[in-house]
Amino acid sequence: MLKRLEIAGFKSFAKKTVLDFSTATTAIVGPNGSGKSNVAEAFRFALGEQSMKSMRGKRAEDLIWGGSHTNPRANRAGVAIVFDNTKRIFKIDFDEVVIERVVFRDGSSEYSINGSRVRLRDVAELLASANIGETGHHIISQGEADRILLSSSRERRAMLEDALGLKIYEFKKTEAERKLEKTEENIQQVNSLRRELAPHLRFLEKQVEKLERAEELRTELVSLAQTYFAIEDGYLEREKRALGEAKSRATERFTAASAELVEIEERATTDVEGTKRLASVREAEKRIDAFTAEKSALAREMGRVEGGLAAAKDRSARAAREPYAKVPREDLTSLAEEIERQTKGATAPEAALAALAAIRTAVRAFVERYVGHRDDLLEEEERLVYALEHERDQLAAKDRELSVRLEDARAALSRAREALTAHDETGKELRRRILDLAQKKAHEEGEIARLEARERELHLLREALERQKGETLSVAGTGAVTYAPLNSLPDEPRTVQEDRLRQLERMKIRLEEAGGTGEDIRAEFKEISEREAFLGRELDDLDHSAAGLRQLIDDLNAELAKHFADGLAKVNAAFSEYFALMFGGGAARLSLEEPEEEGGEEEEAEDDLAQPQKKQGIEIAVNLPRKKVKSLMQLSGGERALTSIALIFAMSQVNPPPFLILDETDAALDEANSRRYGDMIENLARKSQLIVITHNRETMSRAGILYGVTMGNDGVSKLLSVKFEEAVQVAK
Ligand code: ATP
Repeated sequence: MLKRLEIAGFKSFAKKTVLDFSTATTAIVGPNGSGKSNVAEAFRFALGEQSMKSMRGKRAEDLIWGGSHTNPRANRAGVAIVFDNTKRIFKIDFDEVVIERVVFRDGSSEYSINGSRVRLRDVAELLASANIGETGHHIISQGEADRILLSSSRERRAMLEDALGLKIYEFKKTEAERKLEKTEENIQQVNSLRRELAPHLRFLEKQVEKLERAEELRTELVSLAQTYFAIEDGYLEREKRALGEAKSRATERFTAASAELVEIEERATTDVEGTKRLASVREAEKRIDAFTAEKSALAREMGRVEGGLAAAKDRSARAAREPYAKVPREDLTSLAEEIERQTKGATAPEAALAALAAIRTAVRAFVERYVGHRDDLLEEEERLVYALEHERDQLAAKDRELSVRLEDARAALSRAREALTAHDETGKELRRRILDLAQKKAHEEGEIARLEARERELHLLREALERQKGETLSVAGTGAVTYAPLNSLPDEPRTVQEDRLRQLERMKIRLEEAGGTGEDIRAEFKEISEREAFLGRELDDLDHSAAGLRQLIDDLNAELAKHFADGLAKVNAAFSEYFALMFGGGAARLSLEEPEEEGGEEEEAEDDLAQPQKKQGIEIAVNLPRKKVKSLMQLSGGERALTSIALIFAMSQVNPPPFLILDETDAALDEANSRRYGDMIENLARKSQLIVITHNRETMSRAGILYGVTMGNDGVSKLLSVKFEEAVQVAK
């Protein structure tokens, strides 16, 4: 197993020194202080010893060659142990394993395995796999042969476990426990992350639910808005068109009525025909008046002619009867009266003329009656009668003619009046028409005003609609205001649209309250829930691996407990045997110390084996032959050394370490015991390589190779090998 030890700059080995271990037992011999123990310490050092004390130093510097007058001090101390690994006792795939440690003056150490830098821990694990534990049970330093007896029960247990090769399980267990701890930490971390996430996730979940409801609402709103806007657009278009047509018709009617009214009013203010007709009436009336006056004058003339004729006829008759005529007073009076009468009323020229004629006639008649000859008179009278009769006829004819003309004039007047009356009727009709037209015009004006008001109203409705679209767009997106125009409006009352608008408003408010499209919320929810799911999986994995690790720890504990119990039994058997051999009888055994807690029941004891923190220590009980010594403290130095050697050898035999270094373990033995010790060494050397540092010739005689260590004046340890035969010689 152990092939070589290479020491350079370590303690008194200033120069590189190589020790070959080709035989089962190697003895290192030499005078005091030559550096033999330094060789044992070189092993400890290379195997990773951390205690300076166990290498007899205080600082790292103490391990490095300190220098002498011939050799300057070294800066580093290096020791390499070379193992044969053809049997793969180390769990690495090399035939040779070199474990090396170098220490520097600053105290830092470097470890390497086969030349690769490693950590101390890696070295410890590798060694544990080959049953070379860190408690150093296989390196018994000088004066420490009874260390195992002096150490505490717990230290003893550690040594025993180490010797039984349980360290590797411990490593595995510690590793598993470390992993478990880490895993549990991770579980806690993941749990606390999940706990931290949970409220936010719940919040986001609710928000997303809300958003989904809002989305439904938006879809509803979009569909409602499309319907509403399409109908409203169509409605406003239709109304606008109808209004335009109605307005142009009303304007036409208004214009026509206005034009007609202007024309009629003009006609009414310049009534030429009426004036003409009135003038005709006046004319006819004048003519009738003139004819009537003429007729009156004619009647008076007729009266005069009739009177003259009657008087003439009378005088003619009287003249025929009397030749002379007396003039009665009354005739004179009557003449005078006649003149008076005629002149009196005749103021008008025609009347004056008539009166004059009448007076002349009266005077002539008087004269004729009383002055002329009766025949003449008579003749005269007859002519007068004739003339008067003629005149009377003419007057009568004239009167008839006048009557006809008067009649005609009357008829004309009547016609003119009728025409005038008829004309007046036409005027009335016109006025009525004017009134009608004015009324119509006012009506159309009102209609136009009404239509214009409606136009403004439609304009406002259009504006409101556009505003509404804008608002809806901003709340529900472009979809809400994208729609195909309707071919025909639905047959429904306007109140349906009003209801729709109210509903639209309500939905808009609700949607606005729901707030935004929530893209960011959704993204966050997705991210957080994915994270949560990831953490969930992570936790499952962690739980799984924690369970696996617990199982592994349980298994390791069980294995440890089992191996420990088996090992303990075997060590005990060997211990008893070696003890009896050494002391020539008696007995010794290792036992588990009583648990400190109350009620140390069997079950609990087993449990304790499985629970590292409650490990029971190891007690040693000895029973010397022929002595009633029970306590270890009561043993002599030699007895303690023997007991200790028996125990060390027992442990080594049950689970042989690759090598065992015994530094003057035999120092306290007498001759007989030295022989027994030598026998045991030979026995032990079958399973482990032995390196014994000794002054004991008996021990030396059992070694295959002797290394002699010497130290000259330069303080440098030197090595010389002594052949076996020489060794025997030296030993003798
Ligand atoms: P003994 O037979 O008395 O037990 P030994 O052969 O075991 O003696 P060691 O104890 O191994 O002797 O060697 C001690 C010697 O090593 C001392 O002489 C000491 O001066 C020397 N030494 C120890 N440390 C150093 C060092 N750092 N540098 C140089 N020499 C050192």
